[in-house]
Amino acid sequence: MSGSPAVVMRLVASAYTVAEKAGAIVRKVLHSGELGIVEKTGANDLQTLADRLAQQSICASLSRRFPKITIIGEEDLPAEEVKEELIENGHSEEILQKTCPAEYSGLKEEELVVWVDPLDGTKEYTEGLLDNVTVLIGIAYAGKAIAGVINQPFYNYQLGTGAELGRTMWGMPGLGAFGFTLKEAPGNRRIITTTRSHSNKVVTECVDAMEPHEVIKVGGAGNKIIQLVEGRASAYVFASLGCKKWDTCAPEAILTAVGGKLTDMHGNAYRYDANVKHMNSAGVLATLRNHEYYVSRVPQSVRQALKTD
Ligand code: AMP
Ligand code: MG
Ligand code: MG
Repeated sequence: MSGSPAVVMRLVASAYTVAEKAGAIVRKVLHSGELGIVEKTGANDLQTLADRLAQQSICASLSRRFPKITIIGEEDLPAEEVKEELIENGHSEEILQKTCPAEYSGLKEEELVVWVDPLDGTKEYTEGLLDNVTVLIGIAYAGKAIAGVINQPFYNYQLGTGAELGRTMWGMPGLGAFGFTLKEAPGNRRIITTTRSHSNKVVTECVDAMEPHEVIKVGGAGNKIIQLVEGRASAYVFASLGCKKWDTCAPEAILTAVGGKLTDMHGNAYRYDANVKHMNSAGVLATLRNHEYYVSRVPQSVRQALKTD
């Protein structure tokens, strides 16, 4: 490769280290014991000090280095000076060494949109289900998720004290996905992963219509995509509104990078342009393989309940 690295590769390389820093913040707040919980729309829609600090860290760090990108973060925060200790200036040298897919090599900063979920799985974080928690940084261009970074701050926490906590996964369609070992779920079993804290009648009805051999109810959109790419689930089925663009952008990029798919319940792609509606109103259906099969099993009643954007 000649010349300086493509802007998007520099952004992914920074996002990688920034996500690690955010993960460290998420761990630190938990260990402090002072979560600073605030209800947003209700008891199942929470914000903690970790969500706030991690978002400040991610957004301030990235916008300082890439002033022209559009960054959309989940949390509504007052505009205030971000403490210098929250700023991350590093980047992943390994990512910078990768060759940018040709179609993205000429992208400009101002064409990129970054979707940030500073802490996905907040409800589970407050309940101690720590492996459900992820930090999500997704990068979009022309409405498509073209790169994603997922940090899982408490990876390995069940191993007890002494184990090194946390890992970071990243991926880019056309380049690949890294930081985990890709594994397919057993082909002869339909293992459905779905929400544990945002269920309703339609959500359940849709899961049942898949005639699953097994249903896993866990928190977090990032966490459920990790289950898909590590072979623990065959489909992520969430037939409800509630999930937002910052929940799906980074996961979609990583899933797509390994040949998977994320759509609404009708099988239609979501777009990630800067001006789109934040809500994924027509639900989330994600698979590593056999996407069309799962789309075909969505009942008419569910299709009617969930309008396409
Ligand atoms: P879950 O699978 O329930 O963990 O949801 C995945 C992501 O979507 C998380 O970030 C949730 O906070 C969000 N989400 C899903 N449903 C809702 C809802 N009804 N209200 C607020 N957030 C939701
Ligand atoms: Mg989330
Ligand atoms: Mg969140």
